[in-house]
Amino acid sequence: MKLLIATANRGKLREIEHLLEGTPIEIVGLDQLENPPEVVEDGDTFTANARKKATEMARFSGLLTLADDSGLVVDALDGAPGVYSARYAGCQGDDEANNVKLLKELDQVPEGQRQGAFHCVMALAWPDGRCEAFEGKIAGLILRSARGEGGFGYDPLFLVPEYGKTTAELPLAIKNRISHRGTALRQVIPVLKRLAADEA
Ligand code: IMP
Repeated sequence: MKLLIATANRGKLREIEHLLEGTPIEIVGLDQLENPPEVVEDGDTFTANARKKATEMARFSGLLTLADDSGLVVDALDGAPGVYSARYAGCQGDDEANNVKLLKELDQVPEGQRQGAFHCVMALAWPDGRCEAFEGKIAGLILRSARGEGGFGYDPLFLVPEYGKTTAELPLAIKNRISHRGTALRQVIPVLKRLAADEA
């Protein structure tokens, strides 16, 4: 069964591919579509954006489509960067600039008040307009300097206290076991397996 993964973010795609390994799913990437439309992420919530990305791309491609909208929610910043996580410093997808801005915004925030959480909403959409959404979350602390070479985005600053490591220091298999994206996608997998069985 074919499944379009509607993301241009290599980090997300790597994690989703790893989580779908061993399932009867043939992954189709955006790079396999001709002139895919640019979906404007103008929703106020992760759910609204994930649903919009998935439904627009499913309608365009005619394929069952999975879209992820995710981001970092920091308590001391009233939930910022939130849905603006990818463009927090102004330029879409500039992870380094986003991390510099996050550190600056939290400069005066003491230890003990640096809680944050990654949120993820996975939306699964059908070409006829149906769509289902699934959520995941992981709590952590924002460090004062980067640690680790793995992951992407805010991972080098995001400490998972239970492991004493940032999500950039954790191996992919462990990050996927505990992460917002892993939690959301593990709810989608049984739905995909049922659909694949019905198709067979
Ligand atoms: P989206 O493409 O609008 O969903 O933006 C997601 C943004 O949130 C990414 O560009 C990262 O900045 C951040 N983000 C989401 N998930 C993760 C993660 O697992 N690790 C680090 N940063 C993440």
